[in-house]
Amino acid sequence: MDEKTLKQKDNFASLKLNRRKFIFTAAASSVAFYYTACKKTTAKSLEVRKITPPRLDTAYLGEKVLCYRPLRHGAPNMSIETIGTQLIAHNYGHGGSGWTLAPGCAKYVTDLVTASTTGKAIPKDAAVTVVGGGVLGLFTTYELVKRGYTNITVIAESFDKLTSHNAGGLLAPVSMSNNPDLQPLIDQIGIDAYKFYAEIATGTQADFSKGAVVVPTYFEDRESSGLEPYVGKVMQPAKDVTLDFGNGTQRTMVTYDDGIFIDTAIMMKSLHDYLEPKAKFVTQKLTKFSDVSSPLVFNCTGLGAAGINNDVEVVPVQGHLIMLRDQIPANLQYMILVYFAKGKTTVGQDVKRSFYIFPKHLLGTGVNDVGVVGGTFIEGANTDTPNLEEFQILIDNAKNFYGI
Ligand SMILES: Cc1cc2nc3c(=O)[nH]c(=O)nc-3n(C[C@H](O)[C@H](O)[C@H](O)COP(=O)(O)OP(=O)(O)OC[C@H]3O[C@@H](n4cnc5c(N)ncnc54)[C@H](O)[C@@H]3O)c2cc1C
Repeated sequence: MDEKTLKQKDNFASLKLNRRKFIFTAAASSVAFYYTACKKTTAKSLEVRKITPPRLDTAYLGEKVLCYRPLRHGAPNMSIETIGTQLIAHNYGHGGSGWTLAPGCAKYVTDLVTASTTGKAIPKDAAVTVVGGGVLGLFTTYELVKRGYTNITVIAESFDKLTSHNAGGLLAPVSMSNNPDLQPLIDQIGIDAYKFYAEIATGTQADFSKGAVVVPTYFEDRESSGLEPYVGKVMQPAKDVTLDFGNGTQRTMVTYDDGIFIDTAIMMKSLHDYLEPKAKFVTQKLTKFSDVSSPLVFNCTGLGAAGINNDVEVVPVQGHLIMLRDQIPANLQYMILVYFAKGKTTVGQDVKRSFYIFPKHLLGTGVNDVGVVGGTFIEGANTDTPNLEEFQILIDNAKNFYGI
C-alpha cells in the first residue's frame, strides 16, 4: 500500500460511523473516497472467501420498494400508563431495528403489564386489544397467547404491505436513536431476540419452523455491526476475512459467521398463520384508545403513534430497497452491510446511504427470485418526497462494491 492510500485509509477509519448513531451523524467523506480507501487492502494472512457477485443488470432487478422506519427520538416507547379506565402498554418507535427487537420487546412490555398493580388485576380472559398488525403487534400478540390470554383482538388500519413486510431482515440492534442510558436494556432485549430467532434457524423453536437462518454477515468493522454486546453471550467473536469477488476486487471485512437473517415476509406469514386461530383480527383505524372498550390495550402502531399517542418524537426514516430476481440462490447465502457518508438528495434532504444485501425471498415469487439490495436513511422524507433517484444510486453503489 503506498503512503497516499495508507493516509486515506486512516482518514476513512476516523470517519467510520457507529450505525446506532448513523442516522444522526454527519460526515464529510464521499462514496468514491470509501472505495479508494477500502479496495485492495488485503492482509495476506487473512482467510480469503470467494463470493460470486449477484446479477445486478436491469433484467435482474425486481420490485423497487419505498418504505418508512418508525423512529422515535430518544428510544422506542416501551412503557405503561393508565388513561381513564384503560391500561395502555406502548411498544412502538423501533426505527431500523423492529425485527431485531420485536420478540424481546414484546416480552419486556408484557412483563411491565403483569408486574403492575393494574395489570395484575386484569384476568387472562378479559378483553385485550393489540393496536397494530406489524411485527411489533404480532409478536406482542404471540407473547400474550403464550402467557395464556384468551380474548385478544388485533386491530389495524392495514395488515398488508407494511414496513414490517418490506424490511430487509438483518438481526442487529442498529439504526436507532437511543438514549445511552437505555443501551444496556436494548442490548439485553436484542440478545433475548437472538436466542428466539436462533431457535427458528436451528429447527428447535416449538411454534415456528421457518423465517430465520444463520448466515455469515459481513461488516466494515466490529463497531458498526452493533453486535459486539452479543459476543460471548449468544454469538461467537467476529473474524477478519478477505472477500474475493473473482473479478480482481477484494475487500477486507469483518464476519460474524453466526449472523441471523430474518426473512421478514415469510416470518410475517408464519406469525399470522400461528395467531389467526388464537386471536380476532379486525381492520379498522383507531383515533383514540377509548375507541375500544377493553381494559388493556397494547399500542404497537409504529409511525401511527405520532397520531394516536400524540408523540412528536416519532418520525419516518425513508428507505429504498430493490428486490433481485433470477439469481443463483446458493451464491447469496450471506449478508453484507457497509455505510457511506451523509449526502443530499436532489430535493436537498439529508441522506445517509449504505449498501446492504440480504437473501430475502418473497412468497409467491420464483425460487430464484432471491435477494434484496438497500438502502437509504432519509429522516423526515415522506410520500411527497420519494427521492426516486436513490434507486439508481443504490444499484451503482452495489456494483461499485462488487467491482462490477
Ligand atoms: C428499508 C427498511 C429496512 C429495514 N430493515 C430492517 C432490518 O434489516 N432489521 C430490522 O430489525 N429492522 C429493519 N427495519 C425496521 C423494521 O421494519 C421496523 O422497525 C418494523 O417493521 C416496525 O414494525 P411496527 O410493527 O412497529 O410498524 P408497522 O409494520 O408499520 O406496523 C404498524 C401497524 O400499526 C397500524 N396502525 C398505525 N396506526 C394505527 C391506528 N391509528 N389505528 C389502527 N392501526 C394503526 C398499521 O396499520 C400497521 O398495521 C427496516 C425498515 C425499513 C423501512
